[in-house]
Amino acid sequence: MGVPKRPTFQGQWHNILMMENESGNTADRRASERRRMVEDQIEFRGVRDLRVLEVLLSTPRHRFIPDEGMPDAYQDRPVPIGCGQTISQPYMVAVMTEWLGVEPGDRVLEIGTGSGYQCAVLARLAREVVTVERHAALSSTAQTLLESMGFDNIHCVVGDGSTGWPEGAPYDRILVTAGAPRVPQSLLDQLSERGRLLAPVGDREEQRLVRITRDGGQFREERGMACRFVPLLGAEGWPGKP
Ligand code: SAM
Repeated sequence: MGVPKRPTFQGQWHNILMMENESGNTADRRASERRRMVEDQIEFRGVRDLRVLEVLLSTPRHRFIPDEGMPDAYQDRPVPIGCGQTISQPYMVAVMTEWLGVEPGDRVLEIGTGSGYQCAVLARLAREVVTVERHAALSSTAQTLLESMGFDNIHCVVGDGSTGWPEGAPYDRILVTAGAPRVPQSLLDQLSERGRLLAPVGDREEQRLVRITRDGGQFREERGMACRFVPLLGAEGWPGKP
């Protein structure tokens, strides 16, 4: 298999600059930081889906991070976003997005809006994203930012996402971005007939990515890489404040 062709952005620079909300040199510097992030942290470790690489190259991750964390926006690690939460490491966002296998017509449910970055990535690949966050402050900041960037296919919900969001079910894809003790039954119930769910499952310190594919009444489970996420708190997650 050959090396994948580098995604190109002919004709898209105007849109990217709009999303950046910056001009000239600053936008250029951010774009080159992103290119290095994608090449050194993501492609180098084996992520090959061109649609995913292209979206990561052109989504301004730094805009999803509070000022104090901005210098670390394109570093190879999670970054604090307030309320004791983090935006996931870029590589983890890439792996989860690739493994979820989002199709353009899909309706997606994300649990754990956090900064809104993963949600933006999903919304550029799918038809529609519903994203649930238990911290109202994080949800509101993310919603304001996503709207200012021009997204009109994202619905932000505040609540306990461990039980999903039945009002919008069924979903073609469900992505849990917090560590769960087990895959919540409510989320399985909200998957479409050929739907797919991805979640970090394990103990509070360490988890493993689990992918579940629904085929009618059957659920096939595959196990992926080890990972560390903040806990999924709630009725079908870990005990903690509602
Ligand atoms: N996807 C996020 C991003 O791109 O910034 C990162 C998510 S962060 C690792 C995990 C998020 O899950 C936190 O914001 C946390 O508050 C949220 N969370 C934890 N338990 C939750 C629950 N039961 N319902 C909704 N959100 C939850």
